[in-house]
Amino acid sequence: MRNTAKLLWLLMIFSDIVPFSCEKSMRERAIELMQDARLIDGHNDFVLQLRILYQNRLSRVNLRELNRTHTNLVKLQAGYVGAQFWSVYVLCSAQNKDAVRLTLEQIDVVKRMCNSYEELELVMTSQGISDSRRIACLIGIEGGHSIDSSLATLRMYYDLGVRYMTLTHSCNTPCCRINLSVYIYQLNGFLSGNLIMTLLSVHLHSSAFSVCNHSRNVPDDILQQLVSDTGIIMVTFNADVLACGRKVVNISTLADHFDHIKEIAGSESIGIGGDYDGVERFPEGLQDVSKYPSLIEELLRRGWNETELKGVLRENFLRVFREVENKDEGGEEGRRLDETEAFPTVTSTNASAETSRLLASYCFYLQG
Ligand SMILES: [Zn+2]
Repeated sequence: MRNTAKLLWLLMIFSDIVPFSCEKSMRERAIELMQDARLIDGHNDFVLQLRILYQNRLSRVNLRELNRTHTNLVKLQAGYVGAQFWSVYVLCSAQNKDAVRLTLEQIDVVKRMCNSYEELELVMTSQGISDSRRIACLIGIEGGHSIDSSLATLRMYYDLGVRYMTLTHSCNTPCCRINLSVYIYQLNGFLSGNLIMTLLSVHLHSSAFSVCNHSRNVPDDILQQLVSDTGIIMVTFNADVLACGRKVVNISTLADHFDHIKEIAGSESIGIGGDYDGVERFPEGLQDVSKYPSLIEELLRRGWNETELKGVLRENFLRVFREVENKDEGGEEGRRLDETEAFPTVTSTNASAETSRLLASYCFYLQG
């Protein structure tokens, strides 16, 4: 009897301790995982903030400790970010005006930033990401208006290190006149090799339409295509896109999108495109770039295994990036564009899966 009481007492103590130690070990597992597979984030608008707040004058600001933004170097390290695609975004109001100059200025500030801090390193290839022990910097253009309908400009951006361009942001572009009330909001092209190359089914900062019917999110039929296209969706942390008007948006809300996309398209189709410094509102507990481990912790708790999570953190993206780099000239997707050929104009108000494919075939090019 005394033994039973003692056992019960021990069990009570044990049950008090267990949740705490489980919690701790989940966190530790997330950190260990991220030390091993540092995150490649597909989208961050920090350099837009550098323009808005400091007119791109880097000498006026210490990027290690800056606290007016979601991003600084100390927080990136705390978030186990191993590579960051810096978005060089210029406002739609610059279209047909000075969009090209402004884009060049944003590319310039990324390069100056990445060359002047020892924590950062500019890279242009998947191998460059794999080899880097620092935070690898890559450049992505957000919105086709940045090329001013000029493929020559796009080629020169490539030479400057740009490795993706989203077709549209929130304005129509002559290359792809898409009705933006529909969900085909951002089909994206990767630029690769000495070619201007295309890959369908890359969504750089979207989430699941079935979980939240926001125009920027990707519906299930398009998610399913990611499987056959071995494409990727880089899930955004933008609270408005995740929540559909709900007041409370937390890590669990975001994890619901991950669970849904995994169910439809498999974990191999998922990456992360946080969109920090691109929007105001993020889920509770994910307020800045240091908080990525909290998401990984939550996904571990939901039963995601380590292979799946390493995929989400970096391997899935690297697979897609390598695939684009390895594509041969004259592949199936896209079509050759003679240098004298004008951009076709495509209009769509009905973006079914077929329509998005059709649009994509018009809007992506292989330049041989
Ligand atoms: Zn952005």
